[in-house]
Amino acid sequence: MSKTYFLVRPDSQEWAALPLCPRTWRQMLAACAIVLMTTVASFIDARAWEDLPPEYWQHTYQIADMFGLSATLVAIFFSLIGWFFGRMAVAIAPIVLLYAAVAYSLDPTDNAAIWWAGTMAAALWWLIQTKFSLRQIHAVRDLATKSNVDMTIELGPAARKSLNRMKRRSTHWATGLSAIAIFGWLATAMALPTAIGRTYQELEDLVLSDYLGTAAATVSVLALAQWHRCGWRFLARRRVGNMVWHVPIVGGPIQGLWSSLSEDAGTVPFDHAQSLPSCTCIDEFMRANPDERDLYGDMGITAAAYCPVHGIEQINSLTSEQFRSNATGTWLWDEDSLLPMSMQAEADRTLLIGYAGKTFIGLPARFTNGTAEIQPDAGFMIDESHPHVNESQWDRPQPPIGGIVDRIDLTPAGLKGFAIRYRHGRAWFETTDGASMPPLPDAE
Ligand SMILES: [Zn+2]
Repeated sequence: MSKTYFLVRPDSQEWAALPLCPRTWRQMLAACAIVLMTTVASFIDARAWEDLPPEYWQHTYQIADMFGLSATLVAIFFSLIGWFFGRMAVAIAPIVLLYAAVAYSLDPTDNAAIWWAGTMAAALWWLIQTKFSLRQIHAVRDLATKSNVDMTIELGPAARKSLNRMKRRSTHWATGLSAIAIFGWLATAMALPTAIGRTYQELEDLVLSDYLGTAAATVSVLALAQWHRCGWRFLARRRVGNMVWHVPIVGGPIQGLWSSLSEDAGTVPFDHAQSLPSCTCIDEFMRANPDERDLYGDMGITAAAYCPVHGIEQINSLTSEQFRSNATGTWLWDEDSLLPMSMQAEADRTLLIGYAGKTFIGLPARFTNGTAEIQPDAGFMIDESHPHVNESQWDRPQPPIGGIVDRIDLTPAGLKGFAIRYRHGRAWFETTDGASMPPLPDAE
């Protein structure tokens, strides 16, 4: 059974106006700083640098001591390497401090107030970040509802597999960590009786239950944070719904997206070049890239400017009819030009499966056999755009103004647009659906 996905095509301006979450490093840094300051404050409050009084060694070891010590160690540990968890640090910080606050409250001689204050600060920071996320999820949902084009789309097999794998991996982590945590606490409980009731003088140093308790507490914190992440992702995806977004590749909340069309302009498929004895493209390519060895099949190699078959002179010697009937050949076009297979609107957009805000940024995909299928080579580079960095100044490269040979209307070949041929370069495709094309001088 496969879920039904709806195609949504948001307006570029509304897509670009989606709210972004605050920068990850800022969220993470503040969360780590709260834990660090709380830990340092409690250290100062306890005057932990002073020599322990003699009566300390007569104190008998209790469960509360194990909790107190493990809580302190977990807090120190997180203060030092919390940054490693990125955005998850925001959820981890209040859990770490809450554990310490509860542990210190168990022992009436200890001062738990500092830990409670830290917990409150970390929880407040978590709430503020959650508010940003919620605001974003609602905005994404509203836009999805508004831009629904009333079309369902199936996901390709690889896309379905990838989504399921992501979901499975995330819950596997959560259940795996939980299982380890439970095991750790059981081991701690088993080790405790050997230490409880004995004085510190007898014990001399840290006991096994301290180590086990610290490990169990660390893993428990991570398990809770992972469950928090799973739950949050589940809520976001449920709220937004099953959508395949057809979005502009630049100027939106996601950076690192690529055109869903292949970027083969100016190339010749390797097999094709190899089958033509007079073609010099492979030789030229090898001369320019001597380290390139694994050339095969459909892989495009750059068409050589002076190839007797694919050179610039050959492009310009074609009659308009010949050009038109060959217009889908990639070698005719400048490497920065669009290919005439599709419209501008499609070339500058790509598919994003399941986007639900920063919580789940989705999988980049392209239309393949009527389905949305993921691109195996892309998708791990995408991330939420940085606030205040305006990427929308990026524009598709424009064709040169000088050196034009002629313009060929490709409409008779069923392609919406013109080919502009150049004296010293490959042709450029100009779509008739692109509204913002600059005026071009007529052919001489
Ligand atoms: Zn060639």
